[in-house]
Amino acid sequence: KLHNTILELKGNIRVFCRVRPLLPEKESNTTEGAIVSYPTSTEFLGRGIDLMHHAQTYSFTFDKVFNHEASQDDVFVEISQLVQSALDGYKVCIFAYGQTGSGKTYTMMGRPEADEEKGLIPRSLEQIFQTSQALQCQGWKYKMQASMLEIYNETIRDLLSPVRPGSNFDANVKQYAIKHDLNGNTHVSDLTIIDVCSINEVSFLLQQAAQSRSVGRTQMNEQSSRSHFVFTLRISGVNESTEQQVQGILNLIDLAGSERLAKSGSTGDRLKETQAINKSLSALSDVIFSIAKKEDHVPFRNSKLTYLLQPCLGGDSKTLMFVNISPESTSAQESICSLRFAARVN
Ligand code: ADP
Ligand code: MG
Repeated sequence: KLHNTILELKGNIRVFCRVRPLLPEKESNTTEGAIVSYPTSTEFLGRGIDLMHHAQTYSFTFDKVFNHEASQDDVFVEISQLVQSALDGYKVCIFAYGQTGSGKTYTMMGRPEADEEKGLIPRSLEQIFQTSQALQCQGWKYKMQASMLEIYNETIRDLLSPVRPGSNFDANVKQYAIKHDLNGNTHVSDLTIIDVCSINEVSFLLQQAAQSRSVGRTQMNEQSSRSHFVFTLRISGVNESTEQQVQGILNLIDLAGSERLAKSGSTGDRLKETQAINKSLSALSDVIFSIAKKEDHVPFRNSKLTYLLQPCLGGDSKTLMFVNISPESTSAQESICSLRFAARVN
């Protein structure tokens, strides 16, 4: 009961924190090691997290905290209902926020080559296709459409475009304008949207998107950690016996690294990138914060990302933010910033 009250007050916004393990190859020999502890639980799952830095303890509480022992499955169990609600017609956004190297991509995509290390995106899709199949015998027919894009320096790139990013990149980029229709849906003009009927088809598209990202990357001399990756699955369902209809959307977003560049040495393109990232991450925080506070004006238009996701944030839609944390002492300052960011939207 109490849990429900909290969710209601927060307008369906939840924040989960996940701390990755120290990486065996690189970090286990560091002198100080991990600086994170979990005061409320010795299990992989709790609600509190303590971070020690310069002899000070910083304590935070979230809807859930996963420690370094939480497996991909442990995490998925906690979100599978949320994913399921997209089939019931809800608009769902799941974000991964954190500095580069904190485990965002591991959380979202995982290591697809190892079955038990698959992340949220493949697991969510598997579940959605399985459930939609199972619902067929209750008369439900579903149509699914996938799109994948990235936002880099406040410009959108279509990751499923047959035109390879980078080839005639500049000519290609300008077309992707975001529009909202009268039903409150977003359209990105010229964005490739593909009908998908099975997990295999989506896996293929995910590979294509990954390839298209890395091709664009080398040509443009940038890093994937500098752009937001947005996976969208549109779901429309019709029940042939009851004529009931549902329109759900599942957005899975691997955000750009939240680290601030050292003040010295960031000039030119790097500075521009960082400013664009800071702008869109703080715009996202402002939007989620004002939704949670039930403010009248929500500043959706301050970044491409928030404008794109506007119909899926607020209202009766559901938002989950993962804040990913690196446990090693050298990341302490960034980790505190991430936890503060997340505590603000929580
Ligand atoms: P980010 O996307 O935030 O830059 P990554 O997801 O690429 O970070 O993670 C950085 C490294 O840590 C990768 O080698 C990844 O495989 C590893 N890693 C991240 N989270 C975990 C985890 N929970 N368990 C095991 N390895 C992890
Ligand atoms: Mg990443």
